[in-house]
Amino acid sequence: MKHLRATDRLRETAKTWKRGKATDMAGTHDTTLEESMEAMVSGGVFRGEPMDRHTSFGVGGIADYFVVPANPEETVRLVDFLAALGVSFLPLGKGTNLLVLDGGYRGVIISLKNLQGLQIRQEDDDETLLVRGEAGLPITRLIDCALKDSLEGLEFLAGIPGTLGGALRMNAGAWGSEIKDVVRSLTLVVPGRGAEVIPRSRLAFAYRKLELPEGSVIAAAELAVRRGDRDVIEGRIREIMDKRKKRHPLEYRSAGSVFKNPPGGVPAGRLIEEAGLKGLVVGDAMISELHGNFIVNRGKAKAAHIIELIEEVRMRIRDMTGIELETEIVIVGEDL
Ligand SMILES: Cc1cc2nc3c(=O)[nH]c(=O)nc-3n(C[C@H](O)[C@H](O)[C@H](O)COP(=O)(O)OP(=O)(O)OC[C@H]3O[C@@H](n4cnc5c(N)ncnc54)[C@H](O)[C@@H]3O)c2cc1C
Repeated sequence: MKHLRATDRLRETAKTWKRGKATDMAGTHDTTLEESMEAMVSGGVFRGEPMDRHTSFGVGGIADYFVVPANPEETVRLVDFLAALGVSFLPLGKGTNLLVLDGGYRGVIISLKNLQGLQIRQEDDDETLLVRGEAGLPITRLIDCALKDSLEGLEFLAGIPGTLGGALRMNAGAWGSEIKDVVRSLTLVVPGRGAEVIPRSRLAFAYRKLELPEGSVIAAAELAVRRGDRDVIEGRIREIMDKRKKRHPLEYRSAGSVFKNPPGGVPAGRLIEEAGLKGLVVGDAMISELHGNFIVNRGKAKAAHIIELIEEVRMRIRDMTGIELETEIVIVGEDL
């Protein structure tokens, strides 16, 4: 009988995953892999986790593993371990810009929800304050902190429902500002290289994206802000939240804007509205009647319904205008 060393057994498991047989693991899971991850992280290792619980769309099949590091050090160990084995993994914030397909995700979802540290420090020039947040910090907490400490410059992020890490990865923005405008540096976990602090000058931001080395995970970031007038800051935040309530279908589950705005100035939402597509329905997925760029889940939508709507919109806009709409939301996983 052939005895495999622990690392060989892990590699065998990784190969099985790559062959797409990970669903077999629901019954005959590999204890070696699971135990290794359990020994590495203290926030939990969950096998067969339904992703509809972790995405704002409320859809998505089962992830083979959903693993929760408790701190950046555990994140580094986990990322190194999975990358060395060639196991697929995906960092997750609040899942508010993410569509997981109905067949689920083959590999490990790394939830950063326990990385919520937040500190503020004064820079040498006295005027700039640096807000250091860990990746899983909800944007709502960042905004609460800005308000409490009268920090000016982050108001545009108010109402964006994700985490700091997700906002950086997506270069989240609204009302003419993007998070790239306030980033000073970020702490990046790169497989095999540990955690590195990368200054803003070396970060390649683009419209709704930040280019990162393959397999890297944002662990934390520093944002540069100024001390401002509390009433002014509060007024701006309130104005933004009011606009969001009026313009966005917040009573439904969604992932925000589905499509990027195409070059040329006409927003994707307007193109969709002008094409008469508002209210279009597939299953329980619907193009919002309020905002053309939102697809909402009316209750029991499946990822397949959302994908069908996306394809329909792209086809009709292409036929009518010649414009090729690109998705802003990140689509991962397998079909059923
Ligand atoms: C009602 C509503 C309104 C919205 N309004 C806006 C808006 O005005 N402007 C805007 O830009 N967006 C908006 N969004 C979209 C979304 O909230 C943002 O893109 C948000 O920044 C995503 O953060 P998240 O933590 O949910 O990321 P997730 O959805 O969890 O992840 C998104 C992507 O980032 C990656 N990722 C997440 N965390 C990390 C990390 N730490 N390191 C590396 N990669 C990571 C994931 O793998 C995935 O590819 C809205 C969404 C909703 C539902």
